[in-house]
Amino acid sequence: MSLKLYNSLTSKKEIFKSISGKKVKTYGCGPTVYNSPHLGNFRTFVFYDLLNRVLKMNGYKTETAVNITDIDDKIIDKVNEQKTTLKEVTSKYELSFMELSSSLKILPNNYNPRATDYVNQMIEFIQTLIDNDLAYEMDGNIFFSIEKYPHYGKFVKINDDLEIEDIDLSKKNRSDFTLWKARKEKDGEIFWKSQWGEGRPGWHTECAVMIKTLFNGQLDIHCGGIDLKFPHHENESAQIEAIQKHNLSNYWLHAEHLNVDNEKMSKSLGNFVDVKKLIKENGSNIVRLFLLSAHYRTKVSFNQKKIDDCKKMINKINRFASNIIKSDEKINLKFSEDHNKFIDALNDDLNTPEALGVFFSFVTKMNKKIAENSFNDSDNIKSFIFLKLFNSIFDIIDLDNLQENEIPKEVQDLLVSRQEARDNKDWKLSDNLRDKLSEMGWIVEDSVDGQNLLKKK
Ligand code: AMP
Ligand code: ZN
Repeated sequence: MSLKLYNSLTSKKEIFKSISGKKVKTYGCGPTVYNSPHLGNFRTFVFYDLLNRVLKMNGYKTETAVNITDIDDKIIDKVNEQKTTLKEVTSKYELSFMELSSSLKILPNNYNPRATDYVNQMIEFIQTLIDNDLAYEMDGNIFFSIEKYPHYGKFVKINDDLEIEDIDLSKKNRSDFTLWKARKEKDGEIFWKSQWGEGRPGWHTECAVMIKTLFNGQLDIHCGGIDLKFPHHENESAQIEAIQKHNLSNYWLHAEHLNVDNEKMSKSLGNFVDVKKLIKENGSNIVRLFLLSAHYRTKVSFNQKKIDDCKKMINKINRFASNIIKSDEKINLKFSEDHNKFIDALNDDLNTPEALGVFFSFVTKMNKKIAENSFNDSDNIKSFIFLKLFNSIFDIIDLDNLQENEIPKEVQDLLVSRQEARDNKDWKLSDNLRDKLSEMGWIVEDSVDGQNLLKKK
């Protein structure tokens, strides 16, 4: 099944088509570094990682960016509260984001751009918007004029009930959003010089300009938590699409929230779970499995019972894995039906609960065979391939600890050559290789699932 993703632009699952062959460019809105990211933030960050891994599973070469928001009101409040510098606060929490990401096995991104490193480009970009009559200045603030951009409202219907930012500032239209904020007293030393006076860029401009600079303003997929759809993604895309001929992104994916007692887990509500502590108490594999166990578009409530259930699931996988002997998966080049069902579930808009279900029913089937003593080499190879495939996405088991293969390297190499001969329909060579293996004490049988190897008794 080809990869399908739910696109927030059309509110439909669509077959994924990349802009340029097997290359895919993705951007996810990253952490605001005034605090350590909580478990809710990591639900979204692990979802970015899931998307990256599923794209790779489909043979795409990904180029990914997750930004670091290191200019923001909340950061300035923290700097003032702690009487310290911007860098002191942001570098501490950026490090914490990086360490926790690696502990949760999030694959490194190609870029983790910091907003502070792109301020010159942001000033240039805002000037271009002014020159094109899309933005205007008022009291040293620069606003994007939504009236001037007829496509404003791609994610929402524009009406008076919408969330309005910076209502205390004078602007032409209450929905106009801020591109540049004039320096205020509380900003202290946190400001940049521009042709409009001292100030700093607005959040929506930060992401827009980082995407413009890194990806020439064109992405295959843009992701974020659902709370970012409006106004952040609306505003991010409006300002950039107003001056370029193409879309900012063809697909927009949004992850639902992690809740606590039906309320969004958030720093400001104070109901957040500390990821470091949770990992320390349970191990990172259990936390990662918990974050992946629900579909990314469903709301999930955090509770200890779910963590305990994940612990049981991991124990079951590890018990199963302890029966599996490492094998050269090249021996069996074909994926079995079970493997394909797992892939299909993930390709159906990253359906992790369904993929887990497929994997666990396979584990149960194989455990039964192990208990009945009917687990053969072919089952072992299938199980090994499945464990590797499973781990390429979920990454929660230590495959290095599997039992080592007893099949000599020479025999494995002959099997690989024989598979190649069979793929080339060179039956003579295939038969010769079978005879050679037989002389060495190994019986090969061919089945729909590939070659089965048995040691002569
Ligand atoms: P922030 O650090 O607040 O800028 O958020 C970083 C990312 O985490 C954004 O994509 C948010 O949408 C996402 N996020 C924040 N809270 C939650 C939550 N409770 N559940 C899932 N994602 C969240
Ligand atoms: Zn963003």
